[in-house]
Amino acid sequence: MPVLNRRPGRIPRRAAPPEAGLSEAGAEGASLTVDAPGHAPRGLHAAIFTACSNPRCGSGWLRLWRRRETPVFEGGWCCSEACTGERVASALSREMDGRGGAQEGYRHRIPLGLVMLEQGWITPQDLRAALAAQRAAGAGKLGGWLVRRKNASEELVTRALGLQWGCPVLGIEPHSSEGLAALVPRLFVDAFGALPLRMAAGKILYLGFEDHLDPSLALAVERITGLRVEAGLVRESAFRPAHARLLEARFPAVELIEAATEPALAAALARAVERARPVEARLVRVHDCLWLRMWLRAQRGPLPEPAWIHDVIGSAGVH
Ligand SMILES: [Zn+2]
Repeated sequence: MPVLNRRPGRIPRRAAPPEAGLSEAGAEGASLTVDAPGHAPRGLHAAIFTACSNPRCGSGWLRLWRRRETPVFEGGWCCSEACTGERVASALSREMDGRGGAQEGYRHRIPLGLVMLEQGWITPQDLRAALAAQRAAGAGKLGGWLVRRKNASEELVTRALGLQWGCPVLGIEPHSSEGLAALVPRLFVDAFGALPLRMAAGKILYLGFEDHLDPSLALAVERITGLRVEAGLVRESAFRPAHARLLEARFPAVELIEAATEPALAAALARAVERARPVEARLVRVHDCLWLRMWLRAQRGPLPEPAWIHDVIGSAGVH
């Protein structure tokens, strides 16, 4: 699955796939932090061969004798504030157009009660009684009522939700989530009910949801982190306490930007990039929000370090 939109290979050494890790993609920052001891600094070498990543850059060749190492945005160095502004604006318009792949199609799902009937996990009488109880209470999910009325176990309801969403049911290991807090902004964990569960082989992230998948968020996390995201459902009684614990964990710093228009948002995001001067930054859309993640220094392992991550979550216009 494509992880990031790659820019045409203007500079071969920047064309490394994101899977290779930020230490490769953000070559500027990498040269500052992860050079093996004993190697000569690569600054001068980079200064001669690096070109600005903005296709419309107006800087002359001489100006590219690097006055600065950063920022790097989506794998490309930006030579000036103006070039950062143009690159961020073009990434923002890509995201707003849905060309980044963040658009969700509406898919009709078979109601949970019918899935359970079809599987023979409940009887028509069970379903009618649970629906009546739900109507009378005016609240609660059908699955919850089926469990409360002892028509079905929580495991069966979660399995039925998995069938409904066409996704696996994921298990949960105690306290496995807290270390993964840096992967998703706290605001998204809270608002979209996502729970990073565990990583496998440093490449696959299992992302749990309680009763419905959020493909937009899953795709955004995949594009930001470069990890393959496997999304699935977690049974409610395991999800809730783990989610509450995760919300107490340490998350990266976040800045919220509400802009009146898309150009104003682009300008504000570009200013944030110029201020932070990250060694890598990526922009993706999550529903109506734009998520800009900046790495203030090269990431040294599969997991980002909260202290060196700065997130900006922005929106444009009134929703
Ligand atoms: Zn430039």
